[in-house]
Amino acid sequence: MGNSNSSRFPAQDRFEGGAQYIGGRFVPGTSGRKQDVVDPATGDVVYAYELAGAPDVDAAVAAAKDAFPAWAAATPAERSDALHRFAAVLADRAEEFAQAESLQCGKPIKLSREFDVPGTVDNTAFFAGAARHLQGQSAGEYSGDHTSYVRREAIGVVGSIAPWNYPLQMAAWKVLPAIAAGNTIVLKPAEITPLTSLLFAEAATAAGIPDGVVNIVSGAGRDAGEHLVGHPDVVMTSFTGSTAVGKRVAEIATATVKRTHLELGGKAPFVVFDDADLEAAVHGAVAASLINSGQDCTAATRAYVQRPLYDAFVAGVADLMATVRVGDPFDPATDMGPLISHVHRDRVAGFVERARSYARIVTGGEAPKNQGAFYLPTLVADAPQHSEVVQSEIFGPVLAVLPFDSDDEGIRLANDTPYGLAASAWSRDVYRAGRATREIKAGCVWVNDHIPIISEMPHGGYKASGYGKDMSAYSFEEYTQVKHVMYDNTAVAAKDWHRTIFGDR
Ligand code: NAD
Repeated sequence: MGNSNSSRFPAQDRFEGGAQYIGGRFVPGTSGRKQDVVDPATGDVVYAYELAGAPDVDAAVAAAKDAFPAWAAATPAERSDALHRFAAVLADRAEEFAQAESLQCGKPIKLSREFDVPGTVDNTAFFAGAARHLQGQSAGEYSGDHTSYVRREAIGVVGSIAPWNYPLQMAAWKVLPAIAAGNTIVLKPAEITPLTSLLFAEAATAAGIPDGVVNIVSGAGRDAGEHLVGHPDVVMTSFTGSTAVGKRVAEIATATVKRTHLELGGKAPFVVFDDADLEAAVHGAVAASLINSGQDCTAATRAYVQRPLYDAFVAGVADLMATVRVGDPFDPATDMGPLISHVHRDRVAGFVERARSYARIVTGGEAPKNQGAFYLPTLVADAPQHSEVVQSEIFGPVLAVLPFDSDDEGIRLANDTPYGLAASAWSRDVYRAGRATREIKAGCVWVNDHIPIISEMPHGGYKASGYGKDMSAYSFEEYTQVKHVMYDNTAVAAKDWHRTIFGDR
C-alpha cells in the first residue's frame, strides 16, 4: 500500500462499512485481498479497501434476486417516481460526485462538472420518463380467431461490468435502463475506480429505491467478474470494456445461456473532405482526441484528411494541441489531466515510441517529469494504414493523421479496422457527408462534430466494438424480454386447426 491521502476524499466516511454495496448497506469484501484507489495525478493512495470475492458476489446476487419480484411488480409510475427522486438526489450531490470522479480518474474537474455528472443526472431523468413508455407491438386479431399482444417483461437479475474511464456514467448506463424496466442489478465497477459507483448506489437508496435493487461488488475482473458472469441466478450480462475481455465474458455467458450486451473498444475515424470548414475540423479533432485524455471509446483516433487540406490540418492541430493546459485535475483551468495510471501511461508511450521508426511525431510524444501519470497531447503523421498506431486502440491522447485522395479511399480507410463504434465526417456538401453516414460501419456517425452524446439516442458498436445499445429507448430491448400472449376468441372446443391433428372429423 502507498501513502494514504484520504483527506482529499471527503465522501469517504460514507463507506465506513466497506466498499461493497449489498442489499442497501455498505459491507466489507471478504476476498482477503486489498486494493488501493490511487489519484493518478499524484500517485497518492486516496482510499484502500478489501476486494469482493465469490461469496460477496453470491450475497449481492441473492439480494438482487430477493428484491426482484416486488420491483418488477411495481407500476411503471412507481419506478418512474423513484427514478425522478434519484435524479434529484444526484443533482443535489453533484459536486461530491464530481470531486470523487476527478480524484479517482484524474479527470479535469471541469469535465466531471460539465459532462460526467450532468450527463448522469440527465440519463436518470430520461429513464424516469422512459420507464412509463415501454413500447410494444399493438394488440390485434392476427389469426382472426385469437387476440394477440406483446408483453415486454423484466428479465431478472442483471450482472454488469464497467470500465474505469467514465466510472459514473458507465454505472448509470448499465443500472438505469435495467432498473427502469423492472430488473435488479449487481454491478462490478473497475476495481481501481469504485468510488462513484458506490456513491451512485447509495444515492439510489437515499432516493427510496428499495434495498437490493442496485448492488455493487468492487472486485477484480478474473474472480469477482467471472463469478458474476457465470452465476446461475444472473440472467443477463451487460459488459463495457475492452474487446479482449468482452470475448471472455461472452464465452462464460454462453455456458449458462445468458443474454449478453457488449460495449467494447473503438478506434474512431475522423474523415475530413476537402470542402470542410478547416478551422472547425481542427478544433473538432483536438477536442475529440483529447477528451478524458483520449481514454474514451469514441475518441477521434484516426484523422483522414483529403490531400488539399492535409498540411494545413496537421499544422493547425499541432498548434492547437500545444495550447492545451495539462496539469492538476482540480485546477478549473486544466484542460487535460493524467492518464488513469503509470502502467497505462507507459503503454500509451510505448505505441508512440514504436511509431517513431515509421511515422512523424509532429507534437507531444513525451511524459512531463512529475509524479503523475501524465502524457502530452500527441500528433502522429504519415503512419501507414496497417501500422499499430492506426489499427490498435491506444486509449490515450494520441491522434494519428493520414492523407487520402478520393472520397472512395477516405471511406474505405475509415472502415479498415476491426472496430466500429463511432466516426465523424467533415464536409459542407450534404451529399458527401450523407454518403459517409451511410457507408461508414459504426454505431454512431457524426457530421461536422465528434463526441456529443444524448440520453435519447442509442450508443453501441458495430463489428468488434460489440453489440447492444446503451441509453435511449433502444436499451429497453436489451433489458426486457418480449412475450407473446394469445387468447382464443371462439370459445369452441373443436377448433378449425385441430383438423390437421385429428383428421377432418
Ligand atoms: P477492461 O476490459 O480491462 O476491463 C473492463 C472491466 O472488466 C473491469 O471492470 C475489469 O475488472 C473487468 N474484467 C477484466 N477481466 C475480466 C474477466 N476475465 N472477466 C470479467 N470481467 C473482467 O477495460 P478497461 O481497461 O477497464 O476499459 C477500457 C476499455 O473499455 C477500452 O477498450 C474502451 O474502448 C472500452 N470502453 C467501451 C465503451 C463502449 O461504450 N463501447 C465505453 C467505455 C469504455
